[in-house]
Amino acid sequence: MPKGGFAGRRLRRNGAGWARILALFTSMGSNREQDEAFMGIALEEAHAAAREGEVPVGAVLVKDGLMLARDHNRSIALKDPTAHAEILVLRKGGEVLRNYRLVGTVLYVTAEPCPMCAAAMVHGRVARLVFGTLEPKLGAVESRFRLLDQGVMNHRIVVEKEVREEECAEVLKAFFASRRRKERT
Ligand SMILES: [Zn+2]
Repeated sequence: MPKGGFAGRRLRRNGAGWARILALFTSMGSNREQDEAFMGIALEEAHAAAREGEVPVGAVLVKDGLMLARDHNRSIALKDPTAHAEILVLRKGGEVLRNYRLVGTVLYVTAEPCPMCAAAMVHGRVARLVFGTLEPKLGAVESRFRLLDQGVMNHRIVVEKEVREEECAEVLKAFFASRRRKERT
């Protein structure tokens, strides 16, 4: 049998198989390191929001390991009560994918989403949600409501919580503390 014959072809096929499995894992984003890295970008966005005087929450939308969008709360600047970080990255994701269904995407956000954003993720068919800190007042994943629980809505989103939790909580705490100080002076 010549070199690179049947055995070679089989080897190459197996190689491609492994590459596909590896790509599948990457696209599932189940890797903690990758989650922490993308949360780092969401944190940068949260800090940008704080500098602009917006409630400091940042979000990133990812598909197949590639970032489709990054943004932060802009409700004040845009004079738009719906301009939460999550809504802005979903909108941009729809533009990039040219589809209102954002199938296979992972949304990273520094704080637990509110009911509006959780519902928007269901409408967009987001595959996974990774969030930083819990939001006791309005959190719609587990703190106040449980909108993403099986049976509540018609699409299941895999949830990962408390990724880089301390940093995500700290940016919010620092923002509200400084706002209270300003209000007192
Ligand atoms: Zn929201």
